[in-house]
Amino acid sequence: MSSHHRNTKQRDADRARIRNTAAACHICGQAIDYTLPHTNPRSFVVDHVIPLAKDGPDTIDNKAAAHRDCNSTKRARLIAPIVCRSGSLQR
Ligand SMILES: [Zn+2]
Repeated sequence: MSSHHRNTKQRDADRARIRNTAAACHICGQAIDYTLPHTNPRSFVVDHVIPLAKDGPDTIDNKAAAHRDCNSTKRARLIAPIVCRSGSLQR
């Protein structure tokens, strides 16, 4: 198995484990309604504390509960500096 191949079984197990803790969002600190459908911006997602794009590990230690929209905001912030450097976001 290639190292680039993600282990979905492990991923599902980690997700279930985080869900079972009923943890609050690690980004904004507010409670998550775990019954919301995945289409809802306030629904539960697994966030990588150190993003995979920044060489964060795909392990339970690097995963935490987050809202879908908090996760998107965090991701946008990570991408923004790259866009700024390229000059396409200059005001
Ligand atoms: Zn949040």
